[in-house]
Amino acid sequence: MNPATAPSYYEASAQRPPLSPPLAGETRADVCVVGGGYTGLSCALELAKRGRDVALLEGECIGWGASGRNGGQFLRDFSGDIKKPAAAAGVCEKTLFDFSLAAIDLLRARVREHKMDCDLRQGFLLAGLKERHRRELAELHKRLRAFGCETELLDAADTRAIIASRRYCASLYDKNSGHLHPLKYLLGLAQAAHGAGVRIYEQSRADGCDYSAGKLRVKTKSGAVLCAQAVLAGNAYQGEFIPQLRARIMPVGSYIGATRPLGEEKARRLIANGASVCDMRNVLDYYRITADHRLLFGGRVSYTNLGAETAGLRASLRRRVAHVFPQMANEELEYFWGGSVAITINRFPDIGRYENDWYYAQGFSGHGVALSGFAGAIIAEAMAGDGEKFDVFSRVRHRPFAGGRLLRTPLLAAAMLYYRLRDLL
Ligand SMILES: Cc1cc2nc3c(=O)[nH]c(=O)nc-3n(C[C@H](O)[C@H](O)[C@H](O)COP(=O)(O)OP(=O)(O)OC[C@H]3O[C@@H](n4cnc5c(N)ncnc54)[C@H](O)[C@@H]3O)c2cc1C
Repeated sequence: MNPATAPSYYEASAQRPPLSPPLAGETRADVCVVGGGYTGLSCALELAKRGRDVALLEGECIGWGASGRNGGQFLRDFSGDIKKPAAAAGVCEKTLFDFSLAAIDLLRARVREHKMDCDLRQGFLLAGLKERHRRELAELHKRLRAFGCETELLDAADTRAIIASRRYCASLYDKNSGHLHPLKYLLGLAQAAHGAGVRIYEQSRADGCDYSAGKLRVKTKSGAVLCAQAVLAGNAYQGEFIPQLRARIMPVGSYIGATRPLGEEKARRLIANGASVCDMRNVLDYYRITADHRLLFGGRVSYTNLGAETAGLRASLRRRVAHVFPQMANEELEYFWGGSVAITINRFPDIGRYENDWYYAQGFSGHGVALSGFAGAIIAEAMAGDGEKFDVFSRVRHRPFAGGRLLRTPLLAAAMLYYRLRDLL
């Protein structure tokens, strides 16, 4: 089965409301939001709370993109080094870093305020595999301490006391980051947005825009939204809607498997403190225990068509599980699915404005569970006249991937092969 459309563990364990009807005919709104993931819903919610009339167009169903199928880990910091983005934005690194903490605070506050039942759990371990990683973890620990974070540096024995694997030589524990059921959280956001008055149209792909009587007209095959401003929140799934923005991100396939429920005791033997885990390689393993005690394990990547290599990828993910946890070698993956992660060249999110009418946020580079909600909120803030945080991000310039439409994927695959080889050193 194609992992891009395969039923995920999340779809099987969350209760979707009936689909909202597609857009039919022309409608008016203050703002049209394109994309029903965390970015789009968060932005729509904040705009509606400020009294704006918002129409949200989702091409498939809400949460169809990365927001409904990710690893569920909400993490401090950004995916890449923030030295250059901070310099480009004219702020210190701590300012950017603090935005990542604000993103987690916002996520938690929303879960509380809207009483979202989304299996939220605190605790994250970044696990090192080799001497170089141990040194990097020690440096990271120092840096995070300087930023006021309470992290804990663990040696091999302490790490092994938590993760039942012999792979790791050290780890860094962060109690502020953690994990949740990403689709339940997404549906909670959608419900909050709907409750605040956002009109959500599912199966309504925006396929172009023009102007009519001085208004922006965002078109679908069965209707259009006439609005003053719009937000593009389609991320890896946006296609060529605005080719200039699409050129600055690269969709990369990432894959996740979930075992059957292991029982509380066996699950606790795998990760004693229930934290989520990532290792430190470029092509990394990420995993956690779900609320019903499954091992949910992600990794592997594909730079070509997300659905192209299904059988090999599923087997290869199973081998990864057995490599990390040999005691799990006989466990089947009851669910296996994939999604597209949008990465930027510098791995820093690309947030800004395009030709005045369009605001956009994209390219969270595998670090978007908390940051995309924050991005949506600061876009709404900027639209309401307070662009202080938004402007910091929009000052960071993003380059298009080399190679144009035809060659950018093979060129990235070649570059990532280099990073995969580096992982072996
Ligand atoms: C397998 C996987 C694992 C991940 N794991 C993690 C993790 O553990 N931690 C973490 O922090 N991040 C993780 N991420 C990244 C994270 O999920 C994303 O950064 C985040 O969900 C992005 O949200 P978004 O709303 O910007 O985009 P999306 O959730 O992708 O939403 C975009 C939506 O826009 C819709 N759309 C696109 N174009 C149009 C159009 N023209 N008209 C109408 N609708 C349109 C799409 O159908 C889609 O629903 C992972 C991603 C994947 C794929």
